[in-house]
Amino acid sequence: MPDKIPISICVDIEPDTRCIDPRERVPWTGFEELHPYMNRQRELLEKATDGAVRFSWNLRLDPQIEHVYGTAGWAVERYMSLFEALTAEGDEIGLHPHAWRWSEKEDCWIGDHDNDEWIEHCVRLSNRAYRECFGKAPRVFRFGDRFMSNRIMGLLEELGILCDLTLEPGHAATRTLSTDERTTGWIPNYRRVPHAPYRPSRRNFRRPGLRTFRKLWEMPASTGQPRGIIPGLPYPAPRWLTMIIGFPFPAVKQIFEQRLSDVRPHIVALARTDVTRNPFTKERLDLFFDFLLTHPERERFMFVTPLEALKELAGETFNFRQAQNQAPRPTSLSLTRSR
Ligand SMILES: [Zn+2]
Repeated sequence: MPDKIPISICVDIEPDTRCIDPRERVPWTGFEELHPYMNRQRELLEKATDGAVRFSWNLRLDPQIEHVYGTAGWAVERYMSLFEALTAEGDEIGLHPHAWRWSEKEDCWIGDHDNDEWIEHCVRLSNRAYRECFGKAPRVFRFGDRFMSNRIMGLLEELGILCDLTLEPGHAATRTLSTDERTTGWIPNYRRVPHAPYRPSRRNFRRPGLRTFRKLWEMPASTGQPRGIIPGLPYPAPRWLTMIIGFPFPAVKQIFEQRLSDVRPHIVALARTDVTRNPFTKERLDLFFDFLLTHPERERFMFVTPLEALKELAGETFNFRQAQNQAPRPTSLSLTRSR
């Protein structure tokens, strides 16, 4: 029996737009719509794989939400029954802070990545709000706009996070992910980040630690290199693309197959809760699930949370207590074929 292929579908639960109007408490319609949609897909995938299907949801509880909605935990208060239903299914609820800081002077949101204190504040406030909302510590984390630093990786370790999903291998450093938004600093270069999960070096979070490493695991999002002419993408296509459900489907499919050809394949697919809100991205969402349901390898697929995926991939190397106690073990799974 060939190895199972862990697939983690990780959805960022956010307001429908990015630079939200600070004077209006708009409901998170995308989340309201995606919740029943994912439950239907869960049933279909369970039939196709003959196993339980669990998703991962990473939630916004940061200063932008607090500023606009009055409390960082607004979504949990408003959508408590949805969160209870997800938890009952065994889904993982993680943290997904962004670095948006409201500037009265400029009357806009600034993605303040060049401000260490602010970034740390965003993470600590989100972590505190999570504990207040759910009565326990978060275990999974994904920073908004793929921002990360050694300092924040250290903070995640201190807060007891077990798995970070922020890094996206292959991408070069960039000022911003969207040119019409105000940002400071840089989103780091991830060119040499491995695809396989690893325990990061204390000196460089982008590399596996050799002798010393952090307690938490980095599980990078699945990325790949799109080829050919792909409707919806510029030509030539960007060198690296992240598997974001809602991106042009032919590219997502190519990335999926590229990662499936790794020596020990696994998939970390990302989505944002507004994916059903636009007819183009909704169609791509449908295509993605149809593709999974009819894929020739589907009997090997297991739809699991990132922590369950780590357990499957790292076996004895990964267990929750060990993640807390630090033991010198191999730090990289070296799962990917060198290309
Ligand atoms: Zn986000």
